[in-house]
Amino acid sequence: MSGAPVLLQHPSSLDHDTGPHPEQPARMVAIERELAARGYLGFARVSSPAVERSVLEAVHPPSHVELIERVAARGGARIDADTVVSGGSFVAALHACGGAVSLVDRLLSGSAPTGFSVHRPPGHHAETARAMGFCLFNSIAVAARHALDAHGLQRVLIVDWDVHHGNGTNDIFHGEPRVLFCSIHQSPLYPGTGPASDVGSGAGRGFTVNLPVAPGAGDPEFRSLIDHVVVPLARAYRPQLLLISAGFDAHAEDPLADCGVSDAGYGEMARSLRGAAAELGVPVGAVLEGGYALDALARSVAGTMKELGGVASSDGAVGVADVSGRALQRLGEFWPGLA
Ligand SMILES: [Zn+2]
Repeated sequence: MSGAPVLLQHPSSLDHDTGPHPEQPARMVAIERELAARGYLGFARVSSPAVERSVLEAVHPPSHVELIERVAARGGARIDADTVVSGGSFVAALHACGGAVSLVDRLLSGSAPTGFSVHRPPGHHAETARAMGFCLFNSIAVAARHALDAHGLQRVLIVDWDVHHGNGTNDIFHGEPRVLFCSIHQSPLYPGTGPASDVGSGAGRGFTVNLPVAPGAGDPEFRSLIDHVVVPLARAYRPQLLLISAGFDAHAEDPLADCGVSDAGYGEMARSLRGAAAELGVPVGAVLEGGYALDALARSVAGTMKELGGVASSDGAVGVADVSGRALQRLGEFWPGLA
C-alpha cells in the first residue's frame, strides 16, 4: 500500500436541501472549514464520482432508485416524517454512494492506505427499498457489496459507531456471512432495532453483532466495546477490508441522542480500529453517517482522520497561515458556493 490517505467529497452534498433540519448542508461547511484549517491532515482530496447504476442496484432495486430520482426531478417531497428529498438530493446521494465505492476501489487497489468519504445524505438507515432516517441510499452497504462483487472479497467487516442502529446495513447483510456487521448504538433510541439478540439469519447467522448501550454511555463504554469486543472479533474474522460507518452523534454535545463520547473518544476508537487493521494487514476506510452538533462533528471528523493515518497539523507552530491560505483557496475552487 502506498500513497496518501484520501478524502472523498463532492459539492453536490450541499444541494441536498433539507430545509430546517438537523441533517443540513451546514454540516459539510463545518467539516470543510475545520479540515481546511488543518491542511486536510495530509489527506489527498478527491472528487467523488456518481455511483454506477448497476453498482447501486446491486443493493437497491430499480423501483427504489427510480422513486428517489422521480421525486427529486419533481422538485422534491418529504418521504417520511424525518426524511426529505429535494431537487438536488438524487445527485447528492449518487455521489455519496460513489464516494464510498471509490474509497473501496482505492483501498483495495493499494493506491491509498486509508480514507474517509465525507458526504450527505447519510446512508445506514436506508433499507433496500425504503428511504428512512435522513438516508436515501445505503452508501456503505453499496460499497461493501461492491467489494464482494467486483473485488471478490470473502470477508468485509463494517463497524458502525453511529449512535443510532444501522438498521439498513443490518438488514441488507442479515443473511450474508461475507459481511460481518457490528454496531454500537444507544438503546432505546430511533429506529428501535438492533437488540443484542439480533445476530443475523440463515448463512449469516452470527455475522451480525449488535451492541446496544444505555443512554448516558460515553467514552468508557464505547471504547471498551471497541477494544474488548470489536477488535477481538476482527482478529477472529480476519476481514480483508474494514469499513467504519462513522457517525458522530454519540458525542456529548449532540442534540439527537443522550450519549457522552468526547472528541478524544472518537480518536481513540479510530486508533484502535486502525491498529487492528494494521495488525491484520488490511486497509480501513470511513464513511460519514450522522453527527448534528456542528463544531463537535467537525472536530471529531478531523480527530478520526488524524488517527486513521493523517498528518497532524502543527497546532499553529509552523506555517499555519500559509497552509490555511492555500487550503482556503482550494476550498473556494472545490466548493464554488462558498465565499
Ligand atoms: Zn445517527
